[in-house]
Amino acid sequence: MICETFPVGPLQCNCTILGDEQTGEAIVIDPGDEISRIHRRLTALGLTLKQILVTHAHIDHIGGALRLKRLTGAPIFLNENDLPQLDLMQMQAAWIGVPTPETAPPDETLADGQVVGLPSYPAQVLYTPGHTQGSICLHFARLNLLIAGDTLFAGSIGRTDLPGGDSAQIIDSIESRLLALPDETRVLPGHGPATTIGAERRTNPWLTPSDLK
Ligand SMILES: [Zn+2]
Repeated sequence: MICETFPVGPLQCNCTILGDEQTGEAIVIDPGDEISRIHRRLTALGLTLKQILVTHAHIDHIGGALRLKRLTGAPIFLNENDLPQLDLMQMQAAWIGVPTPETAPPDETLADGQVVGLPSYPAQVLYTPGHTQGSICLHFARLNLLIAGDTLFAGSIGRTDLPGGDSAQIIDSIESRLLALPDETRVLPGHGPATTIGAERRTNPWLTPSDLK
């Protein structure tokens, strides 16, 4: 298995390449920026991109998705409840002072319970609204791995003060969907260091004491 996570762009969004060296297939999660770097890496690893998976439609996560699609032909997956975020791309770009990236409607949705990823490394979609209305996490049960987008961070949670954010909803998403996962599940958040479900259950100050088990 090839699994490489590295921060891209001015907001340092964690982009992940997951590949199967047996089949030569790969997926990329959250290609927010630095698309030529991501494409070069795929080429160097000899991987063919099959899916572009986007945890939510904030610019730092989706900004490069269309460029990567044009380079590789891989379809873009996004939960449809984040389509309104695409209409806000110019405003999102202005917030961080970058040119507005070209975006397009996704080729496929990411619905709760849907299975995406590679045949050898499937991921189940967990619908976790709150940071945005279309935010999802990807659970790779065979890998004990959760790609958390901007829903859960090490010691923190996603901001809910942007359009589509809902603070009660993000807490409910984390408590009902993410804390249901085994403690040993490794969590790769959309920004910052990796953590585990167990560590967040015990120490995340944003989660209520009733989460402690
Ligand atoms: Zn975000």
